[in-house]
Amino acid sequence: GLSEKLQETFKKLRGKGKLNEADVTAAMREVRMALLEADVNFKVVKDFVAKVKERAVGAEVLESLSPAQQVVKIVHEELIALMGGAESKIQISPKPPTIIMLVGLQGAGKTTHAAKLASLLKKQGKHPLMVACDIYRPAAVKQLEVLGEQIKVPVFAQAGRAAAEIARAGAESALRQGADVLIIDTAGRLHINEELMGELQEIKAQVQPQEILLVVDAMTGQDAVNVAETFHARLGLDGVILTKLDGDTRGGAALSVRAVTGCPIKFAGVGEKIEALEAFYPDRMASRILGMGDVLTLIEKAQQAFDEKKAAEMQQKLRKQEFSLEDFLEQMQQLKKMGPLASIMEMIPGIGKQLKDVTIDEKDMAHVEAIIRSMTPDERRKPSIIKDSRKRRIAKGSGTSIQEVGRLLKQFEQMQKMMKQFAGGLPGGLGKGKKG
Ligand code: GDP
Ligand code: MG
Repeated sequence: GLSEKLQETFKKLRGKGKLNEADVTAAMREVRMALLEADVNFKVVKDFVAKVKERAVGAEVLESLSPAQQVVKIVHEELIALMGGAESKIQISPKPPTIIMLVGLQGAGKTTHAAKLASLLKKQGKHPLMVACDIYRPAAVKQLEVLGEQIKVPVFAQAGRAAAEIARAGAESALRQGADVLIIDTAGRLHINEELMGELQEIKAQVQPQEILLVVDAMTGQDAVNVAETFHARLGLDGVILTKLDGDTRGGAALSVRAVTGCPIKFAGVGEKIEALEAFYPDRMASRILGMGDVLTLIEKAQQAFDEKKAAEMQQKLRKQEFSLEDFLEQMQQLKKMGPLASIMEMIPGIGKQLKDVTIDEKDMAHVEAIIRSMTPDERRKPSIIKDSRKRRIAKGSGTSIQEVGRLLKQFEQMQKMMKQFAGGLPGGLGKGKKG
């Protein structure tokens, strides 16, 4: 992917004493290729490369950094700028209800994200109401109602009326029932057409939303950018929700949408589940693209799953190197809650690669648990005392094999090493110590 390619490029710059124009030109040629391959809009790539080159060869050379670090730093900063700089929030109207209208092509994720957004806002103490304005397919209304039931958010629907009328009635209903956020789910089409645009413009005219958010599928790459341009020209978008970023996307859409339309990406959809919605932070996305790992997102995810006290305890333990097999087991179970283990580990800088030898198959979790449960408390705290006879006893007790016990101990040892790195890198690792 894009991040591997860029890392390769930067590796070549390592070991250079001073950065000259030829080095930068060569590196930027590869950055350019990597971006184009990731389906970033070619005009965006051209501007980007020119900007980085100018800065890299120019006066901004920092003594304290290696040449490769200098280029990485500049590329990182420019990637952030490309994606709009800071996080963009949705505007809450001082006069409720705040009206959020979701638009986009069919299958982009509008209905799913109406519910994700409603659920997020509800957690923040709001009282959302969702309005079903996709009137062409009865299944679409039903889909929203099912989601509404799941997250306990009311859904407003009316049969036999035009979408704009339903939206308006929904807004009136919000006022009556004291809902402070109205989320309008609209119909999509496979392709942009006049009928769709006309209908969306009518809805907009009827309810004057604070936020018109384009829901766009990140997997569609360059198409996402074209779609965004058209919707923006017709409706005036306030932001973008980039969905399916959990998939095998090439990252191009995230990089170009903002640059081409000027609309900020406000949220990222990272899965089919209701909770799979994240605020979009350009700096984190840039770090991810560069393969620096996304420590901040990792920490945020960790904090959602752990209670804060536990997290603090773990940090202490990591710092003091007191991390035991019992903690290991607990961590694995916590990690399971956070999502696929590999995707979590990938976010830790430098660990993505090492994962190859430290694969923790989630199916093996039950075995791991059995093995650790068969250890004495002493063994759990100090696995180094586990020699052959203890291994045999543990294998028997857990119904596993000596090899499996050995493998777990080895994995644990490697995990401890990684944890040590991680703890050491904690806020310094990325060098920025940024707090989102
Ligand atoms: P709509 O036609 O725009 O309303 O799209 P839907 O909300 O019905 O979503 C279409 C499909 O995409 C559904 O199967 C969703 O579960 C799926 N989907 C939506 N958002 C995401 C996402 O962020 N990640 C993944 N993996 N799937 C998503
Ligand atoms: Mg829908």
